[in-house]
Amino acid sequence: MFQNLSERLESAFKNLKGEARISELNIANTVKDIRRALIDADVNYKIAKEFTDKVKDKALGEKVLNAISPGQLMVKIVQDELAELMGGKEAEFSITGNPAVILIAGLQGSGKTTFTGKLANYLKTKKGKSPLVVAADIYRPAAIDQLTVLAEQIGVDIYAERDNNDAVAIAQNAIKEAKAKNKNVVIIDTAGRLAVDEVMMTEVANIKAAVGPTEILFVVDSMTGQDAVNTAKAFNERLDFSGVVLTKLDGDTRGGAALSIQYTVNKPIKFVSSGEKMETLDVFYPERMAQRILGMGDIASLVEKAQEQYDEEQARKLEKKIRKNQFDFQDFLDQLQQIKKMGNLKDLMGMIPGVGKAIKDVDISDDAFKGIEAMINSMTPFERSNPDEINPSRRQRIAKGAGKQLSEVNAFMKQFDQMRQMMKMMNKMPMGRMPGMMGK
Ligand code: GDP
Repeated sequence: MFQNLSERLESAFKNLKGEARISELNIANTVKDIRRALIDADVNYKIAKEFTDKVKDKALGEKVLNAISPGQLMVKIVQDELAELMGGKEAEFSITGNPAVILIAGLQGSGKTTFTGKLANYLKTKKGKSPLVVAADIYRPAAIDQLTVLAEQIGVDIYAERDNNDAVAIAQNAIKEAKAKNKNVVIIDTAGRLAVDEVMMTEVANIKAAVGPTEILFVVDSMTGQDAVNTAKAFNERLDFSGVVLTKLDGDTRGGAALSIQYTVNKPIKFVSSGEKMETLDVFYPERMAQRILGMGDIASLVEKAQEQYDEEQARKLEKKIRKNQFDFQDFLDQLQQIKKMGNLKDLMGMIPGVGKAIKDVDISDDAFKGIEAMINSMTPFERSNPDEINPSRRQRIAKGAGKQLSEVNAFMKQFDQMRQMMKMMNKMPMGRMPGMMGK
């Protein structure tokens, strides 16, 4: 995710390497490179320019402390500004009301139906709610089938009326049904078109007027960059939606949509979706996203995900181990096994500082991890918890046991070591923050 942007920013900070202090002159290139990186990530010129002007003003206005190099300071400033651009703090998502009514809108193919399923699953499993999903797409019978399959898969009820071609009436009837069946959240999946279309807008606006939704979520495919932003504008003008859902973040997304939507429509991104599995839905945290864009990983989210899988005690132990730089092969293996259940592996691995970059060109599927698992499984418990003790003869034995070449074992050891180095660096950062992962 946002790989190219991350790399370009990292290289922008390199301009400041060796500088003892910040001056207008020596940050000029860095600022220019940051602006270009943003524009190439499909952020429009005006936003990129305003962004870098702010970064520049802040950088020139800050005192560089001895402990932090200009490069580190710039990383920190850019991190804060990126988070700000994406809305600063996470937005609230309201599910009050009985039932709470959530209206889902967006273009066809943006991921509305998939998201409807994911949101229902999230509300059911994480918030203890009892959702009813509603198929209000009266044009495509296949859309009803698709939602029916998803609803079955996650074990929630669905409301549909195959012979009714009045989407407003279907939505109203669904709410009656929810009340009768004690469902406390109703999620209405509406029809989309391939492009912004007056009939579609009117229909969704009419549903809105009839049901008075608690939340209106606009779903948009993050792969569509500037188009996503323009579509958001058009939908917002008609619907005045309450939040944005960015889908397909698991794809080769440049980042423009994520970075520009809040600025353009002044509505927060509330969820991001990154995969077709029902579990791959995340609440959007601007600060964490900024960290990830800067290649710092996202330990907070990783630990949260771990927490969902482990009990609290185990999650705390993992965090402590990462903080104390005692993360070993057994932890790595445990993590692999847990995250395999959680959807997009590459994305999850990218949350570990330093790993995102290391695996950027690697095709990661469940199968790709089999080799790594085999290597760790061929280690003795002693070796797993003492990575530094794995000498050449042990490596030979591990390679043999795992059916791998010695060179593959060596490469894995090196990668693991690099990962631990990154964690170590991160732990040494002042104030628990993580500037200086780059641009030192
Ligand atoms: P709708 O027309 O807006 O309801 O869109 P769908 O929910 O049918 O999604 C369109 C296509 O995108 C389907 O093939 C989905 O499986 C796929 N899709 C939806 N969300 C995601 C996502 O987050 N990541 C990926 N990779 N595919 C997605």
